[in-house]
Amino acid sequence: MHDWSEYELETIAVRAGQHRTNEGEQSEPIFPTSSFTFASAAEAAARFSGEEPGNIYSRFTNPTVRTFEERLAALEGGERCVATSSGMAAILATCMGLLQAGDHMVSSRSIFGTTTILFNNFLAKFGVETDFVGLSDYAAWEAAIRPETKLLFLETPSNPVTEMADIKRLAELAHKNGALLVVDNCLSTPILQRPFDFGADLVIHSATKYLDGQGRAIGGAVIGGGESIEAVYSFLRSAGPTMSPFNAWIFLKGLETLSLRMDRHCENALKLAQWLEVQPNVEQVFYPGLESHPQHELAKRQQSGFGGLLSFVVKGGKEAAWRVMDGTQFVSITANLGDSKSTITHPATTTHGRLSDEQKLEAGIVDGMVRVSVGLENIDDIIADLKRGL
Ligand SMILES: *Cc1c(COP(=O)(O)O)cnc(C)c1O
Repeated sequence: MHDWSEYELETIAVRAGQHRTNEGEQSEPIFPTSSFTFASAAEAAARFSGEEPGNIYSRFTNPTVRTFEERLAALEGGERCVATSSGMAAILATCMGLLQAGDHMVSSRSIFGTTTILFNNFLAKFGVETDFVGLSDYAAWEAAIRPETKLLFLETPSNPVTEMADIKRLAELAHKNGALLVVDNCLSTPILQRPFDFGADLVIHSATKYLDGQGRAIGGAVIGGGESIEAVYSFLRSAGPTMSPFNAWIFLKGLETLSLRMDRHCENALKLAQWLEVQPNVEQVFYPGLESHPQHELAKRQQSGFGGLLSFVVKGGKEAAWRVMDGTQFVSITANLGDSKSTITHPATTTHGRLSDEQKLEAGIVDGMVRVSVGLENIDDIIADLKRGL
C-alpha cells in the first residue's frame, strides 16, 4: 500500500487506494462478486489459513470496498479502515468487537438518537452499561468513569446545537483510565477535523452523510489501528453488516469531491448563520463559525472549517418554526443531513421527538428550534427560501 501520509487531503481524496487491474482503467472498477476463485487447492488452503493474503468472499474483503477503506483510512490519518453497511453498523461493530458483558461505556448525551437507542435498549441487554454525560462537562466525564469503563464515545460538534468537546482532553482522560476514545466524525469529515491528530483511538463514520454527499446510499466505516480495529473487523466478518461493492463505488465518487463540497458547505453555512443572526425574529443561532458561539476558539483550534450544519431558534415556538419550514419552496423537509441539497428539520417533533421534556431541556432542544443542513445551492437562493416563513 502506498504511503499517503506525505500528501494533502485533496490529493488523497481523489487518488488513495486505487489499485489498477491489468485493463489499465482510469476509474475505480466495481467487483460485484460474492466469492473469489483460487488457482489451486493449495492456494485455497493458504488463503483460508491466512498464510497468503487475498480475497475469499465479499463478506470478508472485496476490491472495490478495499479501495474505499484505504482512501478513508488515508484521509483520517488512521492505520486501517473497515467499511460497514451503515453508520449504525459501524457503531454496533465497534461495541461488539471491543466490549463484553460487565463492561461499561461513558457517552456524550448529545449523540445521534439511534445511537442512544442502541446503547440503552440493545447493548444493555448483553450486560454493557452506558452512562451519559454533557459533551463538554469534563468533570462529569471523569466522575462517570469506573474500573470497568472500556470506551468513551462522543460526537463533536453535536447535532443540532453544535456543542463541541476538546478531543485531546477526553483522549487523555480515557488513556489515563485504560479506556479508548471513540469519535463519531460524521458531521465534520476528515476534511474539517481529524480526531487521530488529537489522540482519538477509533473514528466512526456514517458514509451516508457528507462522504457520499448526494443522499444516494447508506454505509459506514470504522477507522483505527492494531488490535482494536482487528476486533471490529472480526465481528463484521462473522456477523455480516459489511459494505456492498456497489455502495463502496458510490462512496468513492463522493470522496473525490469531498473537499470541494466541504468548502462550499462551510462557506454557505457561515453566510446563512451571519444572516440569521441579524434577523429580528431569530432569538439565537448555533454555528461554531460565529464569534458569538461560546466555543468558537475551540472550533478554530480543533477544526479546519466550521461545517455545514447549523440551528437557530425562532421567536414564537413550534408554530413559528413550522412556518419557516412550510414556507420553503426547495429546501427539503427531511431529517437527513450532509446532502448537496439543503435540508430543514424540526428536531423537537422529529429527530428528538422521543425525548422527555426534561431530556429535551438537557439537550438544548426547544420548540422554536430549526436545524438546517446547508447544501450546495446558491446561498442567496437558500436565504430567500428561508426568509419567506420568517
Ligand atoms: C446518520 C448518523 C449516524 C447513523 O448512520 P446511518 O448511516 O444512518 O446508519 C450515526 N452518527 C451520526 C452523527 C449520524 O448523523
